Amino acid sequence: MALTGLDIFKKLPKTNCGECGVPTCLAFAMKLASKQAELDACPYVSDEVKEELSEAAAPPIRTVEVGFGENAFKVGGEVVMYRHEKTFFNPCGFALLIEDSASGEEIEKKLSQVKSSQFERIGQILKADLIAVKYSSGDENRYLSLVNKAKDLNFPLILICSDEGVLKKSLEATKGTRPLIYAAQERNVDSMASLALEYQVPLAVKADSLDNLSSLTEALKSKGVKDIVLDPGSRSLKKTFENLIFIRRAAIEKKVRSLGFPAITFPNEEVSDDYFEVAYAAGYVVKYGGIVVLNDLSPEKVLPLFVLRQNIYTDPQRPMQVEEKIYEFASPDENSPFLVTTNFSLTYFIVSGEIESSKIPTWLGVVNTEGLSVLTAWSAGKFTSEKIASFVKGKSIAERINHKKIVIPGYVAILKGELEDELPGFEIIVGPREAGDIPAFLREWKT
Ligand code: SF4
Repeated sequence: MALTGLDIFKKLPKTNCGECGVPTCLAFAMKLASKQAELDACPYVSDEVKEELSEAAAPPIRTVEVGFGENAFKVGGEVVMYRHEKTFFNPCGFALLIEDSASGEEIEKKLSQVKSSQFERIGQILKADLIAVKYSSGDENRYLSLVNKAKDLNFPLILICSDEGVLKKSLEATKGTRPLIYAAQERNVDSMASLALEYQVPLAVKADSLDNLSSLTEALKSKGVKDIVLDPGSRSLKKTFENLIFIRRAAIEKKVRSLGFPAITFPNEEVSDDYFEVAYAAGYVVKYGGIVVLNDLSPEKVLPLFVLRQNIYTDPQRPMQVEEKIYEFASPDENSPFLVTTNFSLTYFIVSGEIESSKIPTWLGVVNTEGLSVLTAWSAGKFTSEKIASFVKGKSIAERINHKKIVIPGYVAILKGELEDELPGFEIIVGPREAGDIPAFLREWKT
C-alpha cells in the first residue's frame, strides 16, 4: 500500500532542520507522498527507514531493466490504469524473434532487419528494442553462435531456452549484458532462480493460470529474485487480453505485489498470419503488454505499431513539441519561400510532410508556442506578431533570404498588418489555411 504523508512523517527525524529544502519534516513528508521530493534530500534518515520507505514508495508495477548501457530497455514502472489519469512512463518494447533452427539466410535477414527498422517521426526515433533468441534446433553450438551474433548488435537480448545447461553457456557468452532469461516454470523454478541470481539478470516466469503465476513470483521473490517479467501463458487473443488487463488491475488497483511486474506477450505464437500478428500486437500495445515479441520487422508491419506506441506513451497533459528552429527542405537558397508555423509536433509533422512531398526547396521557421497548434496558440497569445517578429529577428532570417517575404498560416491572416509593422522591410504573405494546399501554393511561388 502506498504510504500517506502522515505515515511517512512518523518515520522522519522530526527536527525541522530544513536541510531538505522545506521548513518542516511534515512538509517534506507531504512532498514525498505526492512524489515531489526524493528521500535522499533528508540526510538524517536511517538506512533502515530508507529501505522501508523506498519499498512502500515503489510503483505498483516494478521497473525492470533488460540490457545495459545506453541501449538498456526499461519496462514497467507504471502507476495508473489509463494514460489520461497521469501518464505511462516506459513504452512497451518490441522484440524480434529469431530461432536458431532457421536457415542461415533467414537469420541474416532478421539480424539486418533489427538494425534497419528505424524511423524518425516528430523528432523521435522509432525502432525495435530487443532481440529474442530462441533455442529450437537442439544444437547447442548453433544456438550459441546465434546468441553471439545477436549480442554483437548491441540490442538487449531475451534468451528463450528450455535447456538450462545451454542457457548457462549463453549467459556466460553474454556476461555483463543483462539479458532477460525465459522462462521459469513450476518444474524449473529453483534452477532458473539460481541462474538469475548468479548472473544478475531479469527472469521471465510462465504459468498456465494467474494463480499459479502469482505463486511462482512469490517463490522467486522469497529466493531473492526481484526483476521479474510475467508470461500469463495464454496463447489466444481473448485470453491474453483478459489476463493482461487482470494483471494490471490487480497490481494497480488491488496492490497485489505478486503480479506487480511487466508482462511479455507472444502474438507471434497466437496466430500464423503476419497481418493478424500485427493486429494482435496492437491490442497488447494498448493494454498492457510490456514486451511484444514479433516474427518480422518489415516496415509495413512495424511502422503502424511504432506510431501506435508513440501515441499511447506520450504524456496527454503535455503537448508534444518540436524544437524551435529553422528547418530546411530540399536545400533551400536565398530565393526559396520562407514559411512560419508553431512547434506543436502534429502541426510541424503535417506541414513538413506537405513541404517534403512538394519537393520544392523551402525554409520552415518553427516558433516555440509551447506545443500549441496555430489557432490555439494565437488565441492563447503565444503565436503573436511580436513573437513571430522576435523569431525572425533572433534567427537572422533577413540574411538567409533575398526576397524578404514571410509566409504565415492562413488561419492567422489577422496578424499580417501587425507583423508588417513589427518587421519593416518584410512583406507578409498569407499562406494556405490547410496544410494540404501548401504544395500548390509553393509551386506558384515567385520571388
Ligand atoms: S532534512 Fe530531514 S530532518 Fe531536516 S527538516 Fe527535512 S526531513 Fe526533517
